[in-house]
Amino acid sequence: MYNPLSKKATEFISNEEILETIEYAQKNKRNAPLINSLIEKAKECKGLSHREAAVLLECQLPDQNEEVLKLASKIKEQIYGNRIVLFAPLYLSNYCINGCVYCPYHRQNKNIPRKKLSQEEITREVIALQDMGHKRLALEAGEDPANNPIEYILESIETIYNIKHKNGAIRRVNVNIAATTVEDYRKLKNAGIGTYILFQETYHKQRYESLHPTGPKHNYEYHTEAMDRAMEAGIDDVGLGVLFGLNMYRYDFIGLLMHAEHLESSMGVGPHTISVPRIRPADDIQVEDYKDAVTDDIFAKIVAVLRIAVPYTGLIISTRESQRVREKLLDLGVSQISGGSKTSVGGYANSEPLDEETAQFDINDHRTLDEIVDWLLGLGYIPRFCTACYREGRTGDRFMSLAKTGQIANCCHPNALMTLKEYLEDYASSQTKERGDKVIKQQIVLIPNKKVRSLAAHHLAEISEGSRDFRF
Ligand code: SF4
Ligand code: SF4
Repeated sequence: MYNPLSKKATEFISNEEILETIEYAQKNKRNAPLINSLIEKAKECKGLSHREAAVLLECQLPDQNEEVLKLASKIKEQIYGNRIVLFAPLYLSNYCINGCVYCPYHRQNKNIPRKKLSQEEITREVIALQDMGHKRLALEAGEDPANNPIEYILESIETIYNIKHKNGAIRRVNVNIAATTVEDYRKLKNAGIGTYILFQETYHKQRYESLHPTGPKHNYEYHTEAMDRAMEAGIDDVGLGVLFGLNMYRYDFIGLLMHAEHLESSMGVGPHTISVPRIRPADDIQVEDYKDAVTDDIFAKIVAVLRIAVPYTGLIISTRESQRVREKLLDLGVSQISGGSKTSVGGYANSEPLDEETAQFDINDHRTLDEIVDWLLGLGYIPRFCTACYREGRTGDRFMSLAKTGQIANCCHPNALMTLKEYLEDYASSQTKERGDKVIKQQIVLIPNKKVRSLAAHHLAEISEGSRDFRF
């Protein structure tokens, strides 16, 4: 029985409700009055239910589909402006006791060299990341209580926050590790993590169990209820995601929104972010084996409808996607991207063959962070390295209420410009610096509040003279 307030995975992600929603959406895929009314409702920026969003995803009317894409773009512009958050993944260890069939780190894969970074190696990785200009990381590690216990993750987080190299600093460490206990989540919270990220992979229970035949991750309920435990432990910002292509996309799209609705109704705040990875080739993994792999057009529609269904949730796309796809998705609603990423263990400080062999998946966008920054500036975006909300305690429902009333925009724009300026001063090539300085000049006058504008201009001048780390 479907119950968004239930604490049981099979009740807040009800298979029956998803199947009925798919049927309802397919029945209404050419119902113009209904679809038009949903588009009108979405324009209010208050989001849509999973049923309403499913109808828009299924819509077969070309004009309305066009309208949905335009609306996604408009909502993105209205809420996030032209700012794009940049981050990088940091792989700590590829030891893993799970058997996920779509991931080369699965336990049975004997082709891949196993590696776990020591604290000295982490320091080298972080210095390399700081030298690129990164301020935000997403830590990644396989599940292995012997090799990667929670103490190892906590020690690594402490190491990372303590590295101050030249003007560099990692100011927000997001963590993507296996589902764990309330007690361990509390330890992560106390270690000062930003977002706790855990991908559901697929919401379809039987499919989930067959894709995860062995290891603790096999337990669908434990995995699906993880975000409730994380929030119970005090972690305000959680990041959801599915791996599109593992299962029928409609099913997982609806499951994702039901999960968001569950967190909002039972924990008081929805997900901070949603990631939209797609299955990619890797060692031991062939995309052709996945009949549900999604095309670029469907993928774009998924992103657009997510944007209008959960307008205040950040949408993340990784370097799994090509420059061309990323460009399109940025316009439709993606607000965070990774840049200059290595998906191997130790890949930033070294580019020895071993590091490439330990990669979790193939990257499609191989550009450096500087090239990404320059590209974003050229497209009219402001690449931002801002972490102010987390550091000012604006997380969870506090963040959401500021975001929903639009007040956050008073902080975002100046913070984006100031963190971009830091990047330009410390790490950019001369071409990127020139382009970025021009953009800052054009954008500073657009800060509506006179006092904030003048203070931001003052801080920008101070950054040119060597000061760092201002924030609103
Ligand atoms: Fe391990 Fe995660 Fe890969 Fe599964 S997806 S094998 S849990 S690293
Ligand atoms: Fe993000 Fe907050 Fe910075 Fe805005 S002020 S860019 S919401 S961290």
